[in-house]
Amino acid sequence: MNLGSKKPLSLALAAIGLTLAFGAQAEPIIIDHTTLIDGTGRAPRQDMSVVIDGGRFTVVGPSILAQGLPGRRIDGRGKFLIPGLMDIHIHLAGFSRAGQAWIPSTKTTTTGKWVVDRKVGEQALASFLYAGVTTVLDVGNIPENILPLRTDERAGKLLAPHIFATGNLVTYPGSHGTDIAINVSSWPEAEAQLQAQFDSQHPDIQKITYDDEGWGSRPLIPILPKDLLQHIIQFYNAHGVRTTVHISNESRALEAIYSGVDTLAHTPIQGPVTDAFVKMAAAKQIPMASTMMIGDNYTRIHEHPEFLDQPLYVATMAPVERARLKKISAEGGETALTTSPPLYQRSWRLWMKTQTPILQDNIRRIDAAGGVIAAGTDGTNGAGTQRELELLAQAGVPNLEIIKIATFNGARFLGKQEQMGSIEEGKIADSVLLSADPTADIDNCKAIVFVMKAGEIIDESKLSLAGGPEPRRMP
Ligand SMILES: [Zn+2]
Repeated sequence: MNLGSKKPLSLALAAIGLTLAFGAQAEPIIIDHTTLIDGTGRAPRQDMSVVIDGGRFTVVGPSILAQGLPGRRIDGRGKFLIPGLMDIHIHLAGFSRAGQAWIPSTKTTTTGKWVVDRKVGEQALASFLYAGVTTVLDVGNIPENILPLRTDERAGKLLAPHIFATGNLVTYPGSHGTDIAINVSSWPEAEAQLQAQFDSQHPDIQKITYDDEGWGSRPLIPILPKDLLQHIIQFYNAHGVRTTVHISNESRALEAIYSGVDTLAHTPIQGPVTDAFVKMAAAKQIPMASTMMIGDNYTRIHEHPEFLDQPLYVATMAPVERARLKKISAEGGETALTTSPPLYQRSWRLWMKTQTPILQDNIRRIDAAGGVIAAGTDGTNGAGTQRELELLAQAGVPNLEIIKIATFNGARFLGKQEQMGSIEEGKIADSVLLSADPTADIDNCKAIVFVMKAGEIIDESKLSLAGGPEPRRMP
């Protein structure tokens, strides 16, 4: 989209799947004398002013530029403005069926039919906004859970981050993720299935799975034939939709990239990537989701359950859910997502414990070489997104770069970097004001003064938080 076009703003935004329904009528906001970290990787700039009008950043420059401009002034002295965070790999909670509960769910079922619990989905969305995450990409869900929420968010009826979603993912019978997928087995027979999915779900980006597993404790499973993968990618691209692919190792990642996929839903984790892969990642600028949180979390719950008492978790998780996870840690029992064997007995947990440092090193190398890592958790809670930033820091990625990974690179993943993801004039005004310097310590991304989505400062007291009501952080 041409930002300079004279199309009415609402129409232009509808065309890119964004809404400014909240706060678009409000008076301009001027954040004065702040330290600006714009998300592009540019060094912090002090004594800056940022003017927000009509849901967009309209002036970004030295504070003298905003002198005398009318509007509501916010003193940004001693504070740090960053773009709103983006989590580009989530699976929003709120759906379950017998034996497969995406917990927490207040609804239970004994049949094989999926049941949607809208309240759980709304609470998960609230957790993201509360944690500073203004954009999420759901890369696999049941359509009945995620799509009505996306519709309501875009209509301005739901206080939530910008929601982008794939709806059902696409895979091969018996392969990874079949439960929430359109299963296709041959071309051209698959075309009608994909067309039906496209027409009914309008994916913002289409997720495909391409993995034969066989790693750690997992069995080998069937995988999409490569020519079918190419047809699927071409189908969605020809409908104007980018694609992302679940992979876990370097060779499948390479095959998917050379089949034309636009992004990787994970960074390879099964072993250290080769130098050639690192160079390819930089040369092709293929965005890759980081997704360290999910694997790290199995061990973290087991070894350090006290993290569940940190303020972000207390605010965004139901007390009963935190207690349940602690019980798993202490006594074993069901896992967070399934009713499989106790956590401490699961070889999967130990496997992920050894794999996470390998993934961290792959991410550090790809980023340092100029590749495009984007923050994604594979989770369903904004506190987990903040944890992903901690894991990036632990990996040795510089803090300024982490902010880029968690903002601008997310927009690049979505193909929306011209519209959002950084604090630059003309872009959607998604931002977080912090009371401490995130380049000094990435944990300062949690020192939130306010979260702004599309020009509106979020009123936390209106968020449906699972931990109970919270006061508005900034009056
Ligand atoms: Zn996932």
